[in-house]
Amino acid sequence: KKLTSGWNFDNSYMRLPSLFFASQKPAPASSPEIVLFNEKLAASLGLSADTLKKDGDVLAGNRIPDGAEPLAQAYAGHQFGHFTMLGDGRAILIGEHLTPDERRIDIQLKGGGRTKFSRGGDGRAALGPMLREYIISEAMHGLGIPTTRTLAVVTTGDPVIRESFLPGAVLTRIASSHIRVGTFQYAANWGSIEDLKALADYAIKRHDPEIDESENAYLSFLKKVIDRQADLIAKWQLAGFIHGVMNTDNMTISGETIDYGPCAFMDTYDPETVFSSIDVNGRYAYGNQPYIGGWNLARLAESLLPLLHEDEEKAVEIAQDALSAYSDLYKQNWLNGMRAKLGLFHQEEEDGSLVQEWLKMMQKHRADYTNSFRSLTTGSYGESALFQSEEFGKWNRLWEERLGRQTQSKEDSLQLMKNSNPAVIARNHRVEEAIAAAADGDYSVTEKLLRVLENPYAYSPEQEEYCKLPPSGDQPYKTYCGT
Ligand code: AMP
Ligand code: MG
Ligand code: MG
Repeated sequence: KKLTSGWNFDNSYMRLPSLFFASQKPAPASSPEIVLFNEKLAASLGLSADTLKKDGDVLAGNRIPDGAEPLAQAYAGHQFGHFTMLGDGRAILIGEHLTPDERRIDIQLKGGGRTKFSRGGDGRAALGPMLREYIISEAMHGLGIPTTRTLAVVTTGDPVIRESFLPGAVLTRIASSHIRVGTFQYAANWGSIEDLKALADYAIKRHDPEIDESENAYLSFLKKVIDRQADLIAKWQLAGFIHGVMNTDNMTISGETIDYGPCAFMDTYDPETVFSSIDVNGRYAYGNQPYIGGWNLARLAESLLPLLHEDEEKAVEIAQDALSAYSDLYKQNWLNGMRAKLGLFHQEEEDGSLVQEWLKMMQKHRADYTNSFRSLTTGSYGESALFQSEEFGKWNRLWEERLGRQTQSKEDSLQLMKNSNPAVIARNHRVEEAIAAAADGDYSVTEKLLRVLENPYAYSPEQEEYCKLPPSGDQPYKTYCGT
């Protein structure tokens, strides 16, 4: 009996004007070996895990499955504020898979070889960063944060040259699409108005098919993207996630988190936290992410101007009006999320300042962001300076009073907090520990970590161990990208 993987390709991106992509087969790997495979994700996509796991060739790019038409996507972007041409330099979209529940998803091989957009790069990826992407993207999914996901990591058997020789790997990335703010910037700068329109129509059909064409469809689309990003970035802030490289090419129009390079979860609460070694000015610091989200959306709006109105001045007015909603949308999402983290159901005028006071105390006492919310949830305050402080005592009384003014029971409040405050996050030292073990051929540490991160709101005994902070000598933590 012939084994089938369940692929069902329909490659709509190929039907866009040709400037948007370049056909490109992945470069074969010497001896592909699947080291991590996401069985649950495969099942949810209607793919047979058993068959695929026997077929490292496909996930390494050595064999193109029937119906796939591999390509590299063209896009541009502002990198740390500077506009440039980019494109998939080491990622190859093998095709769009239609799932049994009728979702269209991109199947992309990251580290799949050189493309016409590679510039000086080798088109390859090292194992460590691909494991990191697997762990953190799946942790984000567990937290309920929109994200691209990881189906598998395959080692290639070929070394990649970085500062030293490193084992090479290919990661299978799953996304509702890979259309970026930078894809629109590319269209606006290097395409005709017809090209731009083709991209926008495509994006609307794919992500916002409900948009009414009788109205200004492109304005509706812009507003949808603004909505999704205001939602996404609020979720990042609430979880203490720092993306690290919010360039416009790394912002999707689907509202999924993409490009797990120098990202990390914040430990000590401090809005100025930066992990990325290359972000020397703190452009992408934790506290700056909401602002950068707005900046990037302004670049999207700029790119869409010719479609918003034929009169340029009017188009600018329309765009500015749409963009002006972002900051309030973001703040609302964030404050509602903070209310939930404090177990609050309804809204009161003073909630904002209650939250700010709490954050200020955390910052002053250099408290761990995740564990402080966790302590509020479990009520086990321990000996920490924050919880022993007089100001916390005062704040706690205000909080208790605030909780007392709602009709919901204490149990309901506690449940809300448990659902909103993760017991575990992908702590930096745990991620590093998993990657180090994998480098020695032991993937069990990664697998265990992935299991714990799958349901971060479980408050289960096996999670206790993963709440612990690193030995203090480990700080400050640094991350690197592009490896
Ligand atoms: P990123 O910083 O991950 O957003 O990547 C920025 C650009 O560099 C994109 O165009 C990538 O495709 C490209 N790039 C990153 N790493 C490599 C590599 N090893 N080889 C070729 N291109 C790369
Ligand atoms: Mg990128
Ligand atoms: Mg990257």
